[in-house]
Amino acid sequence: MTPFVYDGLPMRVMFGAGTLAKVRAEVERLGARRALVLTTPYQKAEGERVAALLGELSAGVFAGATMHTPTHVTDAALAVLRESGAQCVVAIGGGSTTGLGKALALRTGVDQVVIPTTYAGSEMTPILGETSEGAKTTRRDAAILPETVIYDVDLTLGLPVAMSGVSGINAIAHAVEALYAENRNPIISMMAEEAIAALGRALPQIVAAPTDRAAREGALYGAWLGGVCLGAVGMALHHKLCHTLGGMFDLPHAETHTIVLPHAVAYNTAAAPEAMAAIRRALGTGDAARGLYDLAGKIGAKRALRDIGMPQDGIARAAEAAMKNPYFNPRPLEAAAIHGLIERAWRGDPPNV
Ligand code: NAD
Repeated sequence: MTPFVYDGLPMRVMFGAGTLAKVRAEVERLGARRALVLTTPYQKAEGERVAALLGELSAGVFAGATMHTPTHVTDAALAVLRESGAQCVVAIGGGSTTGLGKALALRTGVDQVVIPTTYAGSEMTPILGETSEGAKTTRRDAAILPETVIYDVDLTLGLPVAMSGVSGINAIAHAVEALYAENRNPIISMMAEEAIAALGRALPQIVAAPTDRAAREGALYGAWLGGVCLGAVGMALHHKLCHTLGGMFDLPHAETHTIVLPHAVAYNTAAAPEAMAAIRRALGTGDAARGLYDLAGKIGAKRALRDIGMPQDGIARAAEAAMKNPYFNPRPLEAAAIHGLIERAWRGDPPNV
């Protein structure tokens, strides 16, 4: 067996249906006397429901979380947090809300209880991406890792079908890259294969029957595992490309992941045979990249970057940016092949396998 290092991350995870009811007990368990609830304007009602469950422990609701964790929003939330005297934040929502909770924890050391309502997986990672004046910085720090995560499948039953599909493939992307990560290890690889299998089964079922509880459970379970993978090992070409494309053209996060993933996998196919075998097993397909492209088709997702707002003249610029700042990838970065990859993803062609 290849030698490896495995660092387990200390977190408490509660998974089930109706688990939101445990939020007050979980805040008390952390020793907090007051907790500030965080969410987006769109999910304000859910935030208020959490505040009601917290009763006198609630320090109110800050419903200003938004995409890309802009620092001016964090500053506004920080003022509310300081004023409230809360020792804990309870973040209910997707990766954007989780990001705000992480940004506050990094600055103040408050504890975090996260209640995810998408499949982004951010709740399982010590990683925070923040934007300030248009520039995004990403950092990894133990202080960013949430203390407690409450997965309640009931909260995901209403996640719109289109968002469920792309958010689920975003979670698959974490697992896929974990399989060929430089610091991959057997336990994370097991979780990664299981994540891809669970989401690969659940996502088409959700499209057919959005409130199918078993399918929703499968997807949330897969999302959890995908998040663990992202938090535990390094990512490679796919995440780097999505980061570059998202930043350059302000593309939507999960949709970009969904379109790029089959092409990044095709690029790495020959260089990562064990990872490809795991993806094939998980999806029950003859080819990993094609299986991911077909899954995106099955869930009705867009498969072309041009359809989500990337300009054609951006292909060359993105290819050039992706070649800068070298990072690990199983296959070395080759300028012409990277350009071809982005071009195919832009057109929405099947992956080049
Ligand atoms: P999001 O959090 O931006 O949510 C999009 C919208 O959907 C929001 O208005 C939200 O309120 C709403 N929403 C969330 N759950 C819903 C539900 N169940 N029903 C109806 N509406 C719902 O989207 P996301 O894809 O979860 O997160 C994306 C962000 O997370 C990106 O900024 C990305 O960079 C970040 N992220 C970070 C990490 C990390 O480890 N740091 C990992 C993954 C994603």
